[in-house]
Amino acid sequence: MKVPLIVSVNRYYFDHNATTPVCPEAANALAEAAATLWGNPSSVHRDGQLVRSRLDKARRQVAGLLSCPPKRIVFTSGGTEAANLAILGSVRASAAARRHVITSSIEHPAVLSACAQLEREGVEVSYLPVDSRGLVDPDNVRRQIRPNTVLISCMHANNETGVVEPIAEISAIARERGILFHSDGVQATGKIPVSLDQFQPDLYSLSAHKFYAAKGSGALYIRPGLELQPIQYGGRHEAAFRPGTENVPGILAMGAAAAAVTDSTRIAALRDRLEAAILDGVPDVSVNGAGAPRTPNTTNLCFEGIEGEAMVIALDLKGFAVSTGAACSSGAVKASHVLLAMGLTEARAKSSLRFSLGRYNDEGQVDALVDAVAGAAAHLRRLSPTYAHA
Ligand code: PLP
Repeated sequence: MKVPLIVSVNRYYFDHNATTPVCPEAANALAEAAATLWGNPSSVHRDGQLVRSRLDKARRQVAGLLSCPPKRIVFTSGGTEAANLAILGSVRASAAARRHVITSSIEHPAVLSACAQLEREGVEVSYLPVDSRGLVDPDNVRRQIRPNTVLISCMHANNETGVVEPIAEISAIARERGILFHSDGVQATGKIPVSLDQFQPDLYSLSAHKFYAAKGSGALYIRPGLELQPIQYGGRHEAAFRPGTENVPGILAMGAAAAAVTDSTRIAALRDRLEAAILDGVPDVSVNGAGAPRTPNTTNLCFEGIEGEAMVIALDLKGFAVSTGAACSSGAVKASHVLLAMGLTEARAKSSLRFSLGRYNDEGQVDALVDAVAGAAAHLRRLSPTYAHA
């Protein structure tokens, strides 16, 4: 079954950290699952067991991407559920006396909201600061540890800046002190090599739609022997960690996309080309996260004197999809908590834009984006009351 890949029609997509297009391998898996693999993988008959064998294959493919044994992978409905199961499940399963969690101030809401729920349940949570590059300091992690610390949760790569956190060091500190370690790997998986045999976390979350599979699937790596209290109740699917009949099309697509992940050297070169051309051609632009290791596809730029949201709209009208990291709530644009944590003023945080590249971008699209950004920046600055015109 062949499904044509339609990435865009007169549109250039530079928002791959929000979601990625579905790659042909994943689209074929979705179509095949919908058409022929409709059996229930828990059924003992052949129709069910055929699907079970395909789920097992997908588990091997996802485990291959993380360098971990397939048995350690539990399928979930996405990154949010994986992080919730990791955080709520591990703390609730631990001894009642261990009621302190450490996380960073730049986590995705999937982690921050799970921690907020733990706080409502009487758990104390310490939120680690980051430096101006967006990096958590492992020494700071060490200083925050208390006798009753049960879990440290630190993201692998940040969704807004692409900054890659020192999780191997943080994981080693946690291990040394007998504390559980979870990393939200949603923005790292498929973009940088992830070797769980090297990082040795207890828990690692990922999401299929960030690496060219479909929305609504994800996975949690669970270290052998770890106890987790399920966050949903039902049958004994997924080694009794996650009840509910598996999302077969989504999981098979995730496996196919995991097997199709390629090295990011070309994307890194495109990101560098974009960043260099904008810094060269547009005055008063700076890189948020400069000096830190970053995922190869992401650049977050501050355009002095410009409202990021106005820039998103101006670029959208020209056919380019980019984003701010800002969340809209009740119509008001909030400054990004990630950029504020890095020490940006509210004005500079609101003047920042995220460009996240992907597999189907090319040099021509990057060059067209540079021209569009330069034009939009000049136009918006002419109208800006806050930009100091030379
Ligand atoms: N964690 C990070 C860092 C993310 O960027 C996202 C999605 O944007 C999530 C978690 C949530 O993943 P999902 O959309 O699969 O629930």
